[in-house]
Amino acid sequence: MAFNSADTAAFKNVWVFCEQRQGKMMPTTFELISEGRKLADELGVELCGILLGDNVDGIAKELGGYGADKVYVYNSPLLKDYTTDAYTKVITDAVEEIKPEILLFGASNIGRDLAPRCAARLHTGLCADCTHLDIDMPIYKNFLREASTLAEERIEKLGTVKINGQDHDVSRDIKMTRPAFGGHLMASIFCPRFRPAMATVRPGVMKKREFCADCAEKVEILHPAFELSASDIKTEVVETVKAAKKLVDLIGADFIVSVGRGISKDVEGGIKLAEELAEVLGGVVGSSRACVDAGWITADHQVGQTGKTVHPKVYVALGISGAIQHKAGMQDSECIIAVNKNENAPIFEVADYGIVGDLFKVVPELIESIKAAKA
Ligand code: FAD
Repeated sequence: MAFNSADTAAFKNVWVFCEQRQGKMMPTTFELISEGRKLADELGVELCGILLGDNVDGIAKELGGYGADKVYVYNSPLLKDYTTDAYTKVITDAVEEIKPEILLFGASNIGRDLAPRCAARLHTGLCADCTHLDIDMPIYKNFLREASTLAEERIEKLGTVKINGQDHDVSRDIKMTRPAFGGHLMASIFCPRFRPAMATVRPGVMKKREFCADCAEKVEILHPAFELSASDIKTEVVETVKAAKKLVDLIGADFIVSVGRGISKDVEGGIKLAEELAEVLGGVVGSSRACVDAGWITADHQVGQTGKTVHPKVYVALGISGAIQHKAGMQDSECIIAVNKNENAPIFEVADYGIVGDLFKVVPELIESIKAAKA
């Protein structure tokens, strides 16, 4: 069903798809709920979670602790394991009935599969892999900028504006920002004529709020009626097999030591040095894409635009030039330390501490001094 511009006013509230696997909430969900809270406050509307699964009421309250006002819970044995058909049907039916104005998904494997399918079914717009979300008023702002700043202030506060004595509805829209043209510019995308405006958001980009136990108690849990039968689902999950290898947890790490092509003269030795430094710091090893493309390290270590977005307490960049696509994933780290033998390397532009030198000489000294300081 398509919603035209006349229908958009009927849509209200911010929704977040709350992804759970085997009854455990995915960490991105809490980041999205925290970000959704900000958007809902700006719009003066409610923040609602939509949670699908089998017997998942137990984890719904947690969402209140991060800012949700309500959680719509859909329980069914048919929703126990994720299938595109079942989840798409339940979500799109709920959207058509309850009509949220914004619908957010994490850009996880499931979110990347589910969100476009829902957007196509709902005939609305989806901005994929966003790194920033805001509320903006694109349609009237340019006009008002010319008319008067006073009117612009009114529009920000009230959501309506008088032009030539007449009240005009103001189109408030979510501004969805994502890297474009290989990360060389950031594109701001609006979806003014269709609802809900939909976005997938990169895991690790939005900051999780502090958990509020009182708020978790107050969240409203709702169980709307819904229809779903086995015949709606064309696939069957036979077995869920977890990856045998443990993947590195870059997003949750406080200390990351990343390697770049600068280790090329002794790849094994360079990675070993990074591992030793990470160990004394209590952190993990990351990398630039150059190392992943060269097959020196697996893709789960990659930081950057097409890798992970991280904001650890300390990020150490060893032999990484600081290409824009790498910086996109690490420049919000609390403290950046760069080791590079080229004093003009762009990584030094974002570094809090820069060491110009050969990483194979500098890193062993760093490890020794940290060990000595700890002793
Ligand atoms: P280089 O640019 O080759 O830099 C190596 C650095 O090591 C140099 O600065 C050199 O001075 C230094 N060095 C050499 N030897 C030593 C030594 N002994 N001691 C100290 N320093 C030394 N890149 C990412 O990292 N993440 C991404 O997600 C990503 N996504 C991309 C997406 C797109 C669409 C595109 C087009 C590119 C993407 N890239 C990404 C690639 C990016 O443009 C760069 O090519 C890449 O980051 C370069 O990696 P690097 O810094 O390790 O290598």
